[in-house]
Amino acid sequence: MQFDREHLWHPYTSLVDPLPTYPVASASGVRLTLSDGRELIDGMASWWCAVHGYNVPELNAAARAQLDDMSHVMFGGLTHQPAVALGERLVRLTPDGLQRVFLADSGSVSVEVAMKMAVQYQYARGERGRTKFLTFRGGYHGDTTAPMSVCDPVTGMHQLFAGFLPEHYFLRRPPAGVGGTPDADYRREMEVFFRQHADRAAAFICEPVVQGAGGMHFYHPEFLRDLRALCDEHDVLLIFDEIATGFGRTGKLFAAEHADVCPDIMCLGKALTGGYLTLAATLCTDRVARTIGESDVKVLMHGPTFMGNPLACAVAVASIDLLLSSDWQAAVDRLHRGLTRHLRPAAQLATVKNVRTFGAIGVVETHRAVDVGKIQAFFVDQGVWVRPFGRLIYVMPPFVMPDEDLKKLADTIVTACAREEFFLGEAKFR
Ligand SMILES: *Cc1c(COP(=O)(O)O)cnc(C)c1O
Repeated sequence: MQFDREHLWHPYTSLVDPLPTYPVASASGVRLTLSDGRELIDGMASWWCAVHGYNVPELNAAARAQLDDMSHVMFGGLTHQPAVALGERLVRLTPDGLQRVFLADSGSVSVEVAMKMAVQYQYARGERGRTKFLTFRGGYHGDTTAPMSVCDPVTGMHQLFAGFLPEHYFLRRPPAGVGGTPDADYRREMEVFFRQHADRAAAFICEPVVQGAGGMHFYHPEFLRDLRALCDEHDVLLIFDEIATGFGRTGKLFAAEHADVCPDIMCLGKALTGGYLTLAATLCTDRVARTIGESDVKVLMHGPTFMGNPLACAVAVASIDLLLSSDWQAAVDRLHRGLTRHLRPAAQLATVKNVRTFGAIGVVETHRAVDVGKIQAFFVDQGVWVRPFGRLIYVMPPFVMPDEDLKKLADTIVTACAREEFFLGEAKFR
């Protein structure tokens, strides 16, 4: 523990004044077991990934079997059954137009690849000035440089990286709310935004319906149809980053289905391997792949060392098959109803600004920033694992979480929100 404190960076954590970390010895089902034997009900699914929970027999078996064949071979000039089997599933399951698959090694890399694809596509069409991206404020697309440049400028700290990050164009994020009539003023704002900036843009990139780490914000799927029409009108590609929303989390297999829209490029990651290994994918249409392939450059300028890692692909295939053989839609509905019901009492608390749920995602937005260290100690004491950020206490449990665990998770959040001492005096990002 002392070595960890003194030498290991943790995500968005100081090495001088780190928040406490809790040592995990093992994980099984929806529970994390700490090295002192305490068990925590996991509300985070390890940041959207572990949709089947932990230590899943089917995924363990797939990993073991693949290990005996080979854990890795280079993808340059070689191929293998796990990559083909995964590609076949991704092409079949994603919206119809998406036919070509690039297997990347993390979500951020798949976004890098998507952005490079878009720039190369425009270059191939002779549009060499189209190097900018259009996006919503409040988005999150990863931590490497190109994705960071399209993350929310404030929470993504663009000021800090000014001069290093490329600058792109940001549109106010769509108003909150997934139902009713979409806001007409906002639609006009989108049109004006495209008229002003589209001629310099390679693509519009966004997280469909659910903005995740940029603020847990849910917006009307209808705006995605408007985006599709505007992108077509202005020859701008449409990129959906479904790294968080993919594989059922929002109640559809992919959030694009809420609007019945097919993007030109789609990024997948996180739950792709059921949380076992790092793997991501960038899918694109035939038109994008052909345009790049028929250009003088011919190739997509990307090819990571661990591209198409067989071990990760084999587990991804097993995870997708397990998901599809389960009644995942009923599971997500059940979690949705449970979260909605059990988090609702938080809305009455003075500390709480808003409670919202969508699919198997539950969010309590507070007025003041959470004291992460303090509230987390309370959560761990109560036997649940929740990792809030800023003014957001949110959960996206494994789909297999039983009702009584879900109730305990939500009840503990409500209890914590009633305690003023868990909130900082002023808004603070920690
Ligand atoms: C997590 C996330 C990413 C980045 O994925 P990494 O695997 O962490 O690089 C990109 N986009 C969205 C929407 C995400 O939620």
